[in-house]
Amino acid sequence: MLKMKLNSEIKNYIIELTTGLYKGYQLQLDELSKKLNLRFFLADFDDKKISGVIIKDEKTEFYNIYVNRKDPPNRRRFTFAHEIGHYISFKMNSYSKDELIANERFEDYAMSFRHNDVHSKAETEANQIAAEILMPEKMVKDLVKQGLTAEEMADQFYVSPSAMIIRLQTLYDNLMIT
Ligand SMILES: [Zn+2]
Repeated sequence: MLKMKLNSEIKNYIIELTTGLYKGYQLQLDELSKKLNLRFFLADFDDKKISGVIIKDEKTEFYNIYVNRKDPPNRRRFTFAHEIGHYISFKMNSYSKDELIANERFEDYAMSFRHNDVHSKAETEANQIAAEILMPEKMVKDLVKQGLTAEEMADQFYVSPSAMIIRLQTLYDNLMIT
């Protein structure tokens, strides 16, 4: 895993961008993508290992996000947020920019999300942005104070327990989570 900190400019941009888009603790991803002029589709991929794709629409010049229809809902949600992460990185002139300009797309396989398998800065950053928007630091810390378990928190944010645990480990170095 790459040791990398999300740039504070991006962090601040995300907070500004997502303010007012949470219902309880749940980010309304469709509202966020509308705000960014992204279009979202569920798709049937020939290659079943693909989780999601972000690709420039040649006609409209906007970016479209496709997520594998067959994945479970909280996985689809993370994928959607990860693809938005590539777009935010691109907009903020960060690690996804060169690739999106050169190839006009990212294709993500299920393994891109596994913490230990991510070696590229663009993928690590897209995951960090996804975690940040789905599980904002301030909200996570609120719920920790309230004494919720990782599993209960995952339900609140509507993410998978494993995504929640990674997030907690990132925010609380050395924290033991059972
Ligand atoms: Zn990716």
